[in-house]
Amino acid sequence: MFTLSILGSGAATPTLGRHCSSQLVTVGSFRMMIDCGEGSQNQMKLYHHRLLSLDAVLISHLHGDHWFGLPGLISSMHLSGRTKPLYLYAPEGLKPLIETILAVSGSGLQYDLIIEEISPQQPEVLFENQWCKVTAFPLVHSVPTYGFMVEEVTPLPNIRKEAISRYDLTGEQCQAAKRGEDLTLADGTIVPNSWLVHPRKTPHRYAYCCDTAWFDQLPRWVEGVDMLCLECTFDTTLQSLADLRKHLTAKQAAEIAAAAQVDRLLLTHFSARYKDEKIEILEREAKSVFENVILAEEGSTLDV
Ligand SMILES: [Zn+2]
Ligand SMILES: [Zn+2]
Repeated sequence: MFTLSILGSGAATPTLGRHCSSQLVTVGSFRMMIDCGEGSQNQMKLYHHRLLSLDAVLISHLHGDHWFGLPGLISSMHLSGRTKPLYLYAPEGLKPLIETILAVSGSGLQYDLIIEEISPQQPEVLFENQWCKVTAFPLVHSVPTYGFMVEEVTPLPNIRKEAISRYDLTGEQCQAAKRGEDLTLADGTIVPNSWLVHPRKTPHRYAYCCDTAWFDQLPRWVEGVDMLCLECTFDTTLQSLADLRKHLTAKQAAEIAAAAQVDRLLLTHFSARYKDEKIEILEREAKSVFENVILAEEGSTLDV
């Protein structure tokens, strides 16, 4: 299982019907939240995601619409009886802020909150476990901001039944074949690995870039992902405002998706000026450049 649940899709301030940035990414039994705008814990409850199911939280940058929900979430998990550790990856500066908030509000936690401050200058692995590998990379915004790539770890390939009987494979030889090794027979003949195992499933990849302006390396860093989530705060008539505030327009987001040859483009972080039907402006603009566009819809869950 590799899914993405959208909790918040708005830029800057919450509006009636649209919340600030937050998503849940679930890979196998591992669940992480990416960004935690105000009210994200309520959104989890509204859409029936258990608070205690979170294993990690990733924060893209320290603009308030991406993390102001965090102190409440941390505190609620304590009050809900959490005991397992929570890993928090965030830009430099959040650790002392969270520690101060917990201290002055007298919020001792009964679980370990492990905060790792990040500042990658190039794509850098944050962590890897049996389900996924998560990489962070720098974006271009008005404060230090990082994008995240979540890559599924696929299980080792299965041994072909006919190979087991034909070559009388031992347990040790099966394990070697699963690791990708060829088999050397007693007479020195080499049996290529592809004759021994079924092809390994291609791991799916999801990239999240919010907030950012266009920059040259971005398409290369997210090349070929199954789903690319990009912010599109404005439409192209507001390009100068987008440039000033270091955001993307829908057209620019679609151009990045096209250049990176991704499978699907998920747009999010909509300015509050695009109410209800006006949001179609962004969709139309993006689709004029890149066909496979999805607008983030709060409460929806997508397969990556
Ligand atoms: Zn934002
Ligand atoms: Zn921002």
